Amino acid sequence: MHCVVVGGGLAGLASAVWLSEAGQRVTLLERRGSLGGRTISMPLAAVDDIPDNGQHVFASGYTDLMRYLESVGTREHVEFPGHMTFRMPGGGTRRSAFGGLTGLRAALGDLPGVTGLDRLRTARAQATLIRQAFRQPEWLDKVTADEWFRRIGMPQSARKALWDGIVIGLTGDKTEISSAKVPADLLVTGARRALASRTPVSIGFPTVDLDTLFIAGAEKRFADAGVDVRHRAVVSSIDVADGKVTGVTLSDGAKVEADAVICAVPVWNVKGMLDQVPGHERIYEAADTLTPVPIVSVNLYLDRSIGMEDWGEILYGGEGVLEQVWDRQRMHGRDPKDNWFYSTTVSAAYDLIGKTNAEITDIQMDMLRRYYPQAAGAQVVHSHVVRMPRSTFAQRPGTAGIRPDQRTAVEGLALAGDWTRTDWTTTMEGACQSAARAVEVILEYARSRHHA
Ligand SMILES: Cc1cc2nc3c(=O)[nH]c(=O)nc-3n(C[C@H](O)[C@H](O)[C@H](O)COP(=O)(O)OP(=O)(O)OC[C@H]3O[C@@H](n4cnc5c(N)ncnc54)[C@H](O)[C@@H]3O)c2cc1C
Repeated sequence: MHCVVVGGGLAGLASAVWLSEAGQRVTLLERRGSLGGRTISMPLAAVDDIPDNGQHVFASGYTDLMRYLESVGTREHVEFPGHMTFRMPGGGTRRSAFGGLTGLRAALGDLPGVTGLDRLRTARAQATLIRQAFRQPEWLDKVTADEWFRRIGMPQSARKALWDGIVIGLTGDKTEISSAKVPADLLVTGARRALASRTPVSIGFPTVDLDTLFIAGAEKRFADAGVDVRHRAVVSSIDVADGKVTGVTLSDGAKVEADAVICAVPVWNVKGMLDQVPGHERIYEAADTLTPVPIVSVNLYLDRSIGMEDWGEILYGGEGVLEQVWDRQRMHGRDPKDNWFYSTTVSAAYDLIGKTNAEITDIQMDMLRRYYPQAAGAQVVHSHVVRMPRSTFAQRPGTAGIRPDQRTAVEGLALAGDWTRTDWTTTMEGACQSAARAVEVILEYARSRHHA
């Protein structure tokens, strides 16, 4: 079959790679001048370096993403060190290992800044939280994560130390916005995958830039397999006749005929493209309901080390947002030469995103100085601010079930993308799992055509 994949982010890349592995003829249409979507590098001539558009971390249960890396030959570039560090204002640290004794201590309420009776309350609230995640009360999708924490009596100190950060880390959004069901579902997914693989949940990171990790290998596979990759090809509609997909129309009016199409554009680009698809109103409802969440990342090149102890450190007590610092040279196994390169990430950065580059850099440097005594006299050699107003999406209360399945009512048409229905939320793994499912729908269609 001739399969058209619309969108060259992770979901589209994985779809195109796996369809071509399965022997299909593939055309990949990407709106921009390059592939990668939300996971890209941004070369910086000023410091002769290749930072990313934002640090991307992996979780140990990311099986479809790992399969994609195997397919494009870059699996070796992801490491799981098994620990991260919490950093307190003033410089104190606490290493957090995933699972093992530290995990057990955390389960018993032994968290940084949680003392006295709060430990007991935390242990009890955490036990209720786990129970309710697995046996979900019917009201879970009616309340925010914030309200859930209140209902189960999670102490403020434990929220500040761990749980608010976990919600933002898992859902991408603030506790007062995200439905409680989203972190609950993700905890269950993480636990199931950890049990299935018999390894504790852990966090990993790429040891190379994102273009090398996700795109270079895919482009080589595409060249070898004869995949036709077209840049600056903006699809305006998916074309349907007699209940079957027939191809796509581009914004310049040109048509690309196809036997099958995987539509892998982000949720905020889908409206208008599926007008010919029966049931598109429901899919567009997802586009109206899943609202974008901003992330601000800053690639900071400094004149000295700030003395990080770990590859990644979570700053304890952020102001309702998740603040993280990454030691990029350590992560990439490089010695600092002309400068020390740290990357900061602020998730749910609603307040930060509207500020100027200079303001954002100052705010990040003030933050580093509060947490890292060695940063006191540090000078900025170069600052590279990356604003992504549409990084991830928020799933508010009442939205359970809104994310559409990969299978559509049209034969030969499947949807993919982190926003379609998966075991995950808005993640790289969600994008790749959606691709795996979309490819399965298309291959099933290919088999049915073959038998007909
Ligand atoms: C700063 C940042 C940090 C993140 N951190 C993490 C993390 O730590 N861990 C994690 O798992 N996830 C993280 N994410 C989320 C993750 O990057 C996304 O969930 C994932 O990359 C989405 O992939 P996708 O293919 O679904 O969408 P996208 O990457 O958005 O790809 C969609 C593609 O479709 C193209 N397109 C759109 N419209 C059209 C059209 N009409 N015609 C043709 N092409 C079109 C777009 O140009 C784009 O290339 C982060 C995201 C950001 C931005």
